[in-house]
Amino acid sequence: MTVASAEAPPQSRNHLLGRLPVDEYAVLRPSLETVRLPAKRRLAEPGAPMDAVYFPLGGVISLSATDEHGGVVEVGSIGCEGMAGLPVLLGSDRSAGLLHVQMGGEAERMEAGAFRREVERQPVFRRLLLLYTQGFLAQLAQSTACNRLHSAECRLARWLLICRDRLSRDDLPITHESLAHMLGVRRATVTETAGDLQRRGMIRYRRGVVTIVRRDRLEAASCECYRIVREEFDRLLGVRVG
Ligand SMILES: [Zn+2]
Repeated sequence: MTVASAEAPPQSRNHLLGRLPVDEYAVLRPSLETVRLPAKRRLAEPGAPMDAVYFPLGGVISLSATDEHGGVVEVGSIGCEGMAGLPVLLGSDRSAGLLHVQMGGEAERMEAGAFRREVERQPVFRRLLLLYTQGFLAQLAQSTACNRLHSAECRLARWLLICRDRLSRDDLPITHESLAHMLGVRRATVTETAGDLQRRGMIRYRRGVVTIVRRDRLEAASCECYRIVREEFDRLLGVRVG
């Protein structure tokens, strides 16, 4: 089976689709619809049926846990490295949590029925998705530890680094309100923490845009969770899969 080589131009900006063999991608292509996902759009409600999966080309999708009092906390996020809609892969049709667009961008949308059919037919596609699932579970586990053990400052630095990796740019369109939601802290805590990172020359914050000024310092300020999850994804998906 042919596998897209590292030298070949990428077939898709989504890393999973971009790593497919040329023949598998050609078969999938008619089932993919490029859509624009605006910030705040809800893609799936907790426990509700999922009619499609999404492969982000840019932007960030959040998976959040909710409680009966309206509390919402991010437990995982998905960017161009992955896919939103793992329950469909795993044989369920119900979302495990709230899926919503945290940062707007384009994505490849695939109907759930077509997705299930192609997963059955395309072996490399299936293998990549299972490896990604393992990486996503590692992300969830590490985030649980991070939320329990690490400071708001470390977690903010980690979250900004993750977003930078996914968007491949230093200007991140994000409000304090969204940061508070993602970190599970009060807005005042975000203001205080982001202000501290800004005073120390790592970031700049203006009108809903956080700019990373010194990535190296931000990485030093982050907890080890950023590195652990990144290395796990590299280990799982940085190998040939054909
Ligand atoms: Zn951490």
